[in-house]
Amino acid sequence: MSHSPLHLIWFRNDLRLNDNPALFNAAKAGSVVGVFFICEKQWQEHNDSPAKLGLIADRLREFSKELKQKNIPLKIIAVDYFTEIPGKLTQFCKKHAIHDLWFNNEYPLNEKKRDDQTEQELKKISVTSHRFNGDVILPPGSVLNNSGSMFQVFTPFSNAWRLRANPEILTAFKPPRKQSELAIESDEIPQFGGEYRTDLWQVTTKSIHSRLHKFVERSEQSYKELRDFPAINATSTLSPYLTIGAVGIRECIQVLIETNSDEAFHRQWLTELIWREFYRHLIATNPRLSQGLCFKPVADNLQWQVNQSNFQRWCDGKTGFPIVDAGMRQLKQTGWMHNRVRMITAAFLTKLLRIDWRLGEAHFMQHLMDGDFASNNGGWQWSASVGADSVPYFRIFNPYRQAEKFDPQGNYVRKFVPELSSINDKKIHQPSTLSCETLGYPNPMIDYASERKKTLEIWSEFLNTAR
Ligand SMILES: Cc1cc2nc3c(=O)[nH]c(=O)nc-3n(C[C@H](O)[C@H](O)[C@H](O)COP(=O)(O)OP(=O)(O)OC[C@H]3O[C@@H](n4cnc5c(N)ncnc54)[C@H](O)[C@@H]3O)c2cc1C
Repeated sequence: MSHSPLHLIWFRNDLRLNDNPALFNAAKAGSVVGVFFICEKQWQEHNDSPAKLGLIADRLREFSKELKQKNIPLKIIAVDYFTEIPGKLTQFCKKHAIHDLWFNNEYPLNEKKRDDQTEQELKKISVTSHRFNGDVILPPGSVLNNSGSMFQVFTPFSNAWRLRANPEILTAFKPPRKQSELAIESDEIPQFGGEYRTDLWQVTTKSIHSRLHKFVERSEQSYKELRDFPAINATSTLSPYLTIGAVGIRECIQVLIETNSDEAFHRQWLTELIWREFYRHLIATNPRLSQGLCFKPVADNLQWQVNQSNFQRWCDGKTGFPIVDAGMRQLKQTGWMHNRVRMITAAFLTKLLRIDWRLGEAHFMQHLMDGDFASNNGGWQWSASVGADSVPYFRIFNPYRQAEKFDPQGNYVRKFVPELSSINDKKIHQPSTLSCETLGYPNPMIDYASERKKTLEIWSEFLNTAR
């Protein structure tokens, strides 16, 4: 049994032993005990999907076993809201004579407030907080333009990021060493969250690492060319694990560097990971984004259509636009949607139905396994032309052309809209009225060309009067 002072590590979206800077440093400092807070009401307010929470619960069970092998006990505390956490941690630290708290930063406003309050409260009882940036390679605020502010455009951010990311920064942190046994028992992980497709989303570290390795091994050439085709399994599908922190960003990059030498693939996959960082840096440096506001302040005055029945048809995958419906049904059935189709469905809602992007953002969060505030908010603001470096308002995705280009054989649509499976490749993306009626599939809920025209008129008038 050890009698050295205990260190507390507070796990949140970093449920891993490897590449966890807070855990690595806490374990170097002394004996460690872990804590995780279940915050059901807060998660509900943040629209976290039952499926994602179910994944977190299962991952926690696995993670607790891994921690046990290192003799690190994991305690579980249930609260309703984040605001209760500083008090609970104060009690915990007093009870176990803890003087140091270790954690990895989270960047949305509520999370940041919670962490700052915790740090202040614990200071009052002489507990020092040690904060790390485990969820990103380069901390927010460290990649700035020449005038010392956050970039508003992705490409210069990405160029500056690449210049700063040296091999030392990219190296994953090692797992903690095995410590002496402590006289503290781990808690059972209670049931929380909902059901999800456990056949698609496994939670052991071995299975997650195998997903990463297999993806990196098979992706030479194919990723850059095929990543936009939703019928093809060409992307990593690691997003749920990156979101809940079951795999680390440095681990991903290390495997990429060690396993695959194809330069085009490296560059492209790294670019996607840098998009993830771009949105995290934006969230951390611009509180408006966590308050439901547009990155471009002028866009807060845009008038959106209020039309519950149109919104519901979009949610249910019954718009009569096969590629849109396939995406919305993939989301509900699997908890994941291909990136190209996220862009198509988001553009359909915001640019053709002209419904508020915030409703789409919330619906995605309520169903995604990888629901991540920064990336989801960034993706929606991009699609609605109200965000940083977002698509220009006059670029309106044509769902028919997008489908023909990126699902040329209609295999993606056939998989998720099976009522259309008998239609040939040429017609599947725009079935005739007769086919729709015979097959029990809705006719298009809008006329694409006239809605596109209306949107262009509304936006150009809005921008003229806003000037
Ligand atoms: C409207 C909309 C909403 C989105 N919501 C989310 C979300 O809630 N959570 C989420 O993780 N991603 C979101 N994305 C980004 C992207 O669609 C997913 O990250 C990607 O589809 C995940 O698949 P993958 O893991 O196979 O990606 P890969 O192509 O293998 O990319 C690797 C990783 O890079 C990151 N990444 C890739 N593309 C992006 C991007 N455009 N923006 C930010 N990060 C990216 C993800 O972490 C991803 O796992 C959204 C995009 C849009 C357009």
